[in-house]
Amino acid sequence: MFNQLGVIGCGLMGGSFALALKRAGLVKRVIGYSKSPSTTEKAKRLGVIDIAAESALLAVSGSDLVLISVPVAASEATFKAIRHLVEPGVLFMDVGSTKRDVVDAARRVLKDRADCFVPAHPIAGKEVSGVENADPLLYSGRQVILTPLPQTEPKLLQKATDVWAAIGAQVLKMSPENHDAAFAAVSHLPHLLAFAYFSSIHKQPAGKDFLSLAGPGFRDFTRIAASDPAIWRDILLANKEEILKQSMRFRHTLDAMEHVMKTGNAEALEDLIRSAADARSGWQMSTPKPTPGR
Ligand code: NAP
Repeated sequence: MFNQLGVIGCGLMGGSFALALKRAGLVKRVIGYSKSPSTTEKAKRLGVIDIAAESALLAVSGSDLVLISVPVAASEATFKAIRHLVEPGVLFMDVGSTKRDVVDAARRVLKDRADCFVPAHPIAGKEVSGVENADPLLYSGRQVILTPLPQTEPKLLQKATDVWAAIGAQVLKMSPENHDAAFAAVSHLPHLLAFAYFSSIHKQPAGKDFLSLAGPGFRDFTRIAASDPAIWRDILLANKEEILKQSMRFRHTLDAMEHVMKTGNAEALEDLIRSAADARSGWQMSTPKPTPGR
């Protein structure tokens, strides 16, 4: 049980974490801070937080658990704003979708106090952002990746594991480098492609007419193109090296498929499609069993 959760960035992810902890009876009160006072006030009005803080530092004061849930490029400034109150025994976590940049910022700014920081990335979310979309069950039955630093305090790492498990998530641990390489492939590149693909249709002279005819396959394929621009700008820039490597691989595969189409090689085209279709049919998303009662 935590006395006080401090949420810095009262949006979809931070708000959902606060609601999940409240629902599980794991926290006595939640104090929150967001860049715009109107967001902090909205979080309070919606009952996501109990106290509105006027600064990130005030959201940390008196908290025994702090969640930094801001766009990843704002992580360094946030660490700078709170570093004077990063004290032993207090668990600090983030939820950023990229990990190398956040971990580097924590090392640079927090220095020997970086042992209090447990970097986290919940594999959960929505294509809508904002505290009004916060959901106490967002993390239930989802994976959460922790990428601890070598100096991370083991007791805090255990506490982090326990709190995510208590709200129904399954915790995995890996290095920030492996995390960023994997998520470039399975999350960041698909978003880049979805944004580019949707734009390419929407911007055609007949784009509106084409879109009016699209069906469920198109809807499913492009769902993530509606994701938050500021959040995704930061992710694509923070992990650009890994994403560009994946983009190159994709381009080669697309080139190969276009080549067999151009040459009319039906057998080779079918082989390429079959190889993808068989692999996709055999793939299943990892979905941990939800905690009973959630
Ligand atoms: P969101 O709903 O837009 O929330 C972000 C919040 O951070 C907003 O309340 C915003 O306040 C606040 N903020 C921005 N800059 C700030 C700063 N410098 N100081 C304090 N608060 C600041 O976005 P989100 O989806 O929760 O994303 C938050 C983090 O979760 C991101 O790092 C993202 O990579 C990660 N993540 C997102 C998903 C997803 O599916 N959405 C999934 C996994 C991880 P204002 O309203 O005042 O701008």
